[in-house]
Amino acid sequence: MNRLSDIGTIRDILSRHGFTFSKALGQNFLVNPSVCPRMAALSGAAEGVGVLEIGPGIGVLTNELCQRADKVVAVELDKRLLPVLSETLAEYDNCKVVNADVLELNLNQLIAEEFSGLDVVVCANLPYYITSPVIMKLLEDRIPVKAITVMVQKEAAQRICAPVGSRESGAVTVSVNYYAVPELLFHVSAGSFMPAPKVDSAVIRLNVRSQPPVQVEEAQFFRVVKAAFSQRRKVIANSLSAGLGMDKAAVSELLDRAEIPANARAEKLSLDDFAAIANELAGGAP
Ligand code: SAM
Repeated sequence: MNRLSDIGTIRDILSRHGFTFSKALGQNFLVNPSVCPRMAALSGAAEGVGVLEIGPGIGVLTNELCQRADKVVAVELDKRLLPVLSETLAEYDNCKVVNADVLELNLNQLIAEEFSGLDVVVCANLPYYITSPVIMKLLEDRIPVKAITVMVQKEAAQRICAPVGSRESGAVTVSVNYYAVPELLFHVSAGSFMPAPKVDSAVIRLNVRSQPPVQVEEAQFFRVVKAAFSQRRKVIANSLSAGLGMDKAAVSELLDRAEIPANARAEKLSLDDFAAIANELAGGAP
């Protein structure tokens, strides 16, 4: 068993280092011994693979990743955790900790420098205050990874993994589906963390697509998706008019050309529907 998921061991490490949890940095550390091995195995961490981890904390997941992958690079913002990680990862020579804010990093450069010749995956128990920005950065930067396996709040997992065109879908569902095929892997109870958060969590895997499923002018596509869901209870004609700053007659013409009923709702539209609107807005198919 990974000794780092034992509460006694964690308390001892944290007290010896005088460490106190930072709520602002989303520090809820895993203490359920079954979660990290399962997550690491499902992430694709294996021989011939390099893993980018975000937010290693005291290294409980990192440990599992190091046992499976050729190399692990873990990006941790809180420099107070660096001496802790030096201790908890001391037995591994295939691990590097980078002290940085993941949102500020040039991840393509990091991957090129650290993972030459390896397939790459991402595996992380994400700090929940930046779940969407991190996921969108990983996808929008088009880092060369096969899959992104992350722990997120249960509600975020359900939203991201909802089928496009279902009531549970949102702008993030459509945006993620443009880059990847999301999959909900398993649920994790709030009691699996120290300190326990108020909400349950889930592990999801984004299987990164080699090609987007629709051909679009991307800036217009994401503009349309954002505008369409900006007022999700309204019909598409009204939400697009408000979100795109276009008058109703122009939006009505746009929807006619894209063959989308003006009274449809964003949550009922498919990727092809959003692509049709975006391409008409951009002045025809790309
Ligand atoms: N992986 C550990 C675990 O599962 O027990 C810790 C996960 S904890 C939910 C999130 C971690 O992300 C913390 O260690 C926190 O310090 C780190 N973190 C927060 N914001 C960050 C950022 N912008 N860049 C990198 N790491 C960050």
